[in-house]
Amino acid sequence: MAAGAAAGAEALIVTHGPDVRYLSGFTGSSGAVAMVGGRAALFTDGRYTTQARAEAEGLRVVIDKKSPAVQAVEWLAGAGVTKCAFDAGQTTVTGMEAMKKALPSSLRRSFLVATDGLVARIRQVKDEDEIAQMRKAAALGCRLFADVLEFVVAGTTEAEVAAQLEFKARMYGAEAMSFETIVASGERSALPHGRATGAKLPRRGFVTMDFGVLLGGYCSDMTRTVHLGKGSDFEWDVYHSVLEAQQAAVAAVRSGVSCGEVDEAARAVLRKAGLEKEFSHSTGHGVGLEIHEGPRIAAKQEQVLESGMVITIEPGAYLSNVSRSRAGKPGNGKSAAVFGVRIEDMVLVTEGGGEVLTAASPKAWMEL
Ligand code: ZN
Ligand code: ZN
Repeated sequence: MAAGAAAGAEALIVTHGPDVRYLSGFTGSSGAVAMVGGRAALFTDGRYTTQARAEAEGLRVVIDKKSPAVQAVEWLAGAGVTKCAFDAGQTTVTGMEAMKKALPSSLRRSFLVATDGLVARIRQVKDEDEIAQMRKAAALGCRLFADVLEFVVAGTTEAEVAAQLEFKARMYGAEAMSFETIVASGERSALPHGRATGAKLPRRGFVTMDFGVLLGGYCSDMTRTVHLGKGSDFEWDVYHSVLEAQQAAVAAVRSGVSCGEVDEAARAVLRKAGLEKEFSHSTGHGVGLEIHEGPRIAAKQEQVLESGMVITIEPGAYLSNVSRSRAGKPGNGKSAAVFGVRIEDMVLVTEGGGEVLTAASPKAWMEL
């Protein structure tokens, strides 16, 4: 196992759910995969006997009452392994103690080699099957956005909009939402993570919808911001600055380019528009079996994009009371608005550039 060898270990134990699924196909909530040489085994408990044998095809499946990680450690030590890599970022202190206790005393000090995100790093680059699955998840997101627009009207609550979106997601085959749906309207759109509340959509103002589905195990993630009623010149300007920043970052995506460069492409546009301070988060993140995974598309990130990565590009600008005086600059000056705008696409990294997987949803200024 190359990943284990990289850490000076001859074997690898994986316990983080998405990593276990990636390596074995097993989707249960409690499992561990152990790999040594060309051999791999899946460990779980009696609740999952049938499921594990069906899902983890081609893997040895071991069922026991002990915790999966403890089973894995015992199996590896019994096979003569003396050093084994594990993911420290996904292991609790209690879990670590339990694994140590399961070892013969001669191995306790040296057996476990802490590593960080070995499998998560491999998962960043998607294969053909994964990309096909992510295209489907992204397409479903676009379909939901088109469907939900008829409910985006003054007087409807944010929660109702979210409920419609989530109901349809289920009806169209999604296993779940990939995260808690964000519907943030009016002044609440100034909250980057405004979860849907009982607040009623205003007659005039922005509505930001950030949502995703889980389809075939893979997450989608997209954001669109629409305007109810006629927008002011200032709102129009801010929206178009964010859109320009988003498009600039998408245009910067290509294998070999650093994540920091992509982030800077978006940030430079907003800086020029006097909105740099209002862009209070990073430009994007990797997405796959998990809604947030590597790479991080953030300032000064040196990691280089590789073909097959799927990332989000999601700049935004959030104007609160605090930022109002400074942010008056790009518009007509008399605006006293508190609002936010975010636009997010999923982008597949290729050698030729970025392919937007959520391109079916329009990003042009939309007044409803
Ligand atoms: Zn999102
Ligand atoms: Zn996102």
